[in-house]
Amino acid sequence: MREQELTTTSAPQLDTPRPDDDDNDDESDGGTGVEDMTSQPVSYRFVPARLRRRHVPVRQEPDSTSRCVASIQSKPFGQARVVNAYKRRGGWLWVWWDGRFGWVDSTRIYETCGWRCSPTTNVDPREAWPGDNYLGRKGRFVLGPDTSGFAATNAMTTIPTLVVWCATLKSSDDFGCSYDTWLIMRCLLVMIYGTCMYLLWRAALMDPGVIPRNPPDAKPSLPPGCEDAPDLKICHTCNLVRPARSKHCGSCNNCVELFDHHCPWLGTCVAKRNYAYFALFLNCEVLLIVYVVCITTFRMVLAFKASELPATAFEIEEVQTAPWPLGAAAVAAGLAFPVVSLLCFHLRLAAISQTTNESVRGVYRHAINSNDKGCRRNCYNSIYATLREATPPSRLEPLFARPCADQSWGAYGAVRSDDVA
Ligand SMILES: [Zn+2]
Ligand SMILES: [Zn+2]
Repeated sequence: MREQELTTTSAPQLDTPRPDDDDNDDESDGGTGVEDMTSQPVSYRFVPARLRRRHVPVRQEPDSTSRCVASIQSKPFGQARVVNAYKRRGGWLWVWWDGRFGWVDSTRIYETCGWRCSPTTNVDPREAWPGDNYLGRKGRFVLGPDTSGFAATNAMTTIPTLVVWCATLKSSDDFGCSYDTWLIMRCLLVMIYGTCMYLLWRAALMDPGVIPRNPPDAKPSLPPGCEDAPDLKICHTCNLVRPARSKHCGSCNNCVELFDHHCPWLGTCVAKRNYAYFALFLNCEVLLIVYVVCITTFRMVLAFKASELPATAFEIEEVQTAPWPLGAAAVAAGLAFPVVSLLCFHLRLAAISQTTNESVRGVYRHAINSNDKGCRRNCYNSIYATLREATPPSRLEPLFARPCADQSWGAYGAVRSDDVA
């Protein structure tokens, strides 16, 4: 199927039977032909044949004059998207997808796009999630769409640490330094690395502050007297009134509360719930970088003294015999500048109580920031308060704790049966 067929506003010339064409076969199908599933929605699971993004065309309803273009995307970790099919005519399903109703040819999905379509009644609520996050069990883990960036951050933190740990793996006194000294250095390295990874995973795998979508029939309107309020805006994708300082993240495809920025290295948004962990991770990462560089330098100085070689000869010998610790230190030193710059930037933002989004857009360039309570109070509110007074509760977990049959199912993007006329 070509792209232009998907974006046409008139009824496309279908080379497959149109939904209405199947009307005459309804009776002969023994109930599998025309089935108005308005009263009894059936879910269809589209399982990707390969873990690549695929687009399934949803064609325009023949008797509709509105444009209907949509796509269904695969997700890794077995989390496929589910559409609720409310009507079925032959192989065509009448589905709601990305804010639009449309017909999808289920019999040709695999042929054209490599997806498999099979009926299921046991739907995991996570699969109906309309955003682009990957959701863990009961919504407790929320991973952003940039998994490769998250993997790269893990690798850049782990590999230099591992190399330096191996380089200090002395079984006895070495380079004039006792075994206990090497052991203490290794323990310290493991402690800093462990804290770093805890903060990284905590920040990346928690719900950053996603605001669940409203059902499609909800008609959000600004509160009376707030029509001109610059802070409040209606998000037509999520169908809700966005609270002040929130933003719809294009990467995650969700509105996020107290949005700071979408971090490609974390793979997710940095916002209300995970900002403190993100800021502490930056601190810890700087500490790890400094420690890795220091420990490598310390080892080289000891080795130089023990070798009694001229400096040039020692450098050549060191590069030939122990290139890995030098490489690890070089990688760590290379990361130092961007990470320290980012840390300084966020410390400044925490001190003046601004988010990255507000700073970049210059929201307070000509206006007073009512959230600014002074440097100390701002830092406390941004970082320390989150840790001390517990992370704000997630809005997602209560949704995923409910059974699928609950009528509030529509609250996060799926459609209730009474939404279909
Ligand atoms: Zn939104
Ligand atoms: Zn995001």
